[in-house]
Amino acid sequence: MKTEYQLSTQESEQIKKLLSIFYQAGFKEQKLPEIYWSDEIPPQIQQKYPNKEITDLGLYGILDEMIEEKKNQEKKLATEVLGIYDYKPGENKEGIIILYKKTIEYCGKYLGKKWLTHLPDDAHIINDNYAITQLRLIVLLHEIGHWIAHWLPDKNNTRWLNMKDCTDFHEAWAQLMVVWALHGNPSALEDFEKFSEVQPDIYQGYKKLKDISNRDKIIDLFIECRNEKNPIDLASFILSVYTGEPIKDILHKKRGSNLAGTIGI
Ligand SMILES: [Zn+2]
Repeated sequence: MKTEYQLSTQESEQIKKLLSIFYQAGFKEQKLPEIYWSDEIPPQIQQKYPNKEITDLGLYGILDEMIEEKKNQEKKLATEVLGIYDYKPGENKEGIIILYKKTIEYCGKYLGKKWLTHLPDDAHIINDNYAITQLRLIVLLHEIGHWIAHWLPDKNNTRWLNMKDCTDFHEAWAQLMVVWALHGNPSALEDFEKFSEVQPDIYQGYKKLKDISNRDKIIDLFIECRNEKNPIDLASFILSVYTGEPIKDILHKKRGSNLAGTIGI
């Protein structure tokens, strides 16, 4: 079952702060997408076990696997296990955000142990509530980041409706939005970084973008990407930030060299 989610004051303020960066850059104001709080099994998990009804205990076992820290093993906790930005052209074309209660609460408790090592043991109940609140905020900002990428009209009144196959850039972008929103809040940023330690590589790309202080440059390039018909990959985006070469030209060269590779020139 899913119910409409009421944003807390802190969540509203962080979202407002993030959006103000875009409104100052000429983006058009929009009402926020619908946000839901769901006790359902997230589709990313359900899809892996299509013929199985997943019990709560089964779900916790799957999550343990995802967050277990084994050296040299790929980390697996995708943000999309905790929340999604879901859009279906024609049905909910502006997209909706769903936050998954069971996975946020379970992973929040786990991450609380990493986030709050300075508190005494008997503070564990406060720890849990704090950690769950922090994790939900991070997931929410990440999904708002996807909504901004897709739906928020820019100064040219353009949206990004053709963003299929840009996976590594999109995840780096959504993570970067969390960093921008939490800027000036070092303890929340530290929590976000600890959370990202249990995430797959694709969620680490933001680290290459977060230290670029010229946000205008990133936003201008992002707008340029919306007009590009070919998928944007993170490496090309970064190359364009640093060299100033138009993304169109970088993608063109890349396609040329990929093609040369396939036909053995
Ligand atoms: Zn994402």
